[in-house]
Amino acid sequence: MDKNERLLEIRHLHKDYGNGPVLNDISLDVHKGEVLVLIGPSGCGKSTFLRCMNGLETIQSGEIILDGEVISGGKTKWSEVRQKIGMVFQSYELFPHMTVLDNIVLGPTKVQKRSRADAAKDAEKLLERVGLLDKKDMYPRQLSGGQKQRVAIVRALIMKPEIMLFDEVTAALDPEMVREVLDVMLELAKGGSTMVIVTHEMQFARAVADQVVFLDGGDIVEMDEPEKFFVCPKSERAQKFLNTFTFEKKES
Ligand code: ADP
Ligand code: MG
Repeated sequence: MDKNERLLEIRHLHKDYGNGPVLNDISLDVHKGEVLVLIGPSGCGKSTFLRCMNGLETIQSGEIILDGEVISGGKTKWSEVRQKIGMVFQSYELFPHMTVLDNIVLGPTKVQKRSRADAAKDAEKLLERVGLLDKKDMYPRQLSGGQKQRVAIVRALIMKPEIMLFDEVTAALDPEMVREVLDVMLELAKGGSTMVIVTHEMQFARAVADQVVFLDGGDIVEMDEPEKFFVCPKSERAQKFLNTFTFEKKES
C-alpha cells in the first residue's frame, strides 16, 4: 500500500443547485489506502460532495480525477466509474423482492457480466466476513437495520471498487446496531481500503480517519490529522461544531 499515491483528486470543484453555491472551490486528494472522514453541520454539502464524486450530481466547474484520468468531463461513462467508486447510503436501498444473495450478485452479473456461480462464491465470502452468511436466502424485511446496512456494504464491495464512499450509513440505525456497522468499516480500513466517510460518530471518526475534513458552508474550513483536529481544532467554527457533541454534567 502506498499512501502517497493519489487515487482521487478533486480540483476547484464548484456545485450549485441553482440557488447559490453549495460547494465553493473544493480541492483535496484521497490517497490509496487512506481514510478521509468528512464532517460538518447538516446542510453544509457533505452528501452533495460525495454524490459529485461518483457522478450522481453534475458540477458547474472544477475537475474530478480518478487514477490520473479526468472523470468529470461530459464523455465519462459513469456506469464504468461507479464500479471503481462504490457508494453506501443511509437508506440501504436493497431491492425488497430479492433475497440478500440476489441483491448482492445483481451488480456483478448484470454490470460486470460475471457468472452467477462465480459472483455467488464471492458474495458468500463477503457475507461471512460481515457475519451474515446465514442470512443469504432471507429477504431484506427479515433483517435488522444493521444487518441490512452490512448487506448494502457487501453489495458495494463485491464490485471490487478502488474507493468506497459512505454517506452517514449509521444515521438511521438504533444505537445498538451502529457498532456492528462501524466495525465492518474499521475492518475495511485496517485492510487498506480507500474510503471517504461522512459520519456524525465522532469517536469512530477519530479512530478510523487518516485525515479529517471539516466542511462548513460549502468550504473546507479545516483539514488535519484526527488527533490534531479533535484535540485542538484551529477554527472557531470547528470548535463550535465539536462542542455540540459534548455535554457538561449539571451541578449538584
Ligand atoms: P449535508 O449532507 O451536509 O447535510 P447536502 O449536501 O445534503 O448537505 O445539502 C447541501 C445544500 O444543498 C443544502 O442547502 C441543501 O438544501 C441543498 N441541496 C441538496 N440537494 C439538493 C437538490 N437536489 N436540489 C436543490 N438543493 C439541494
Ligand atoms: Mg447528507
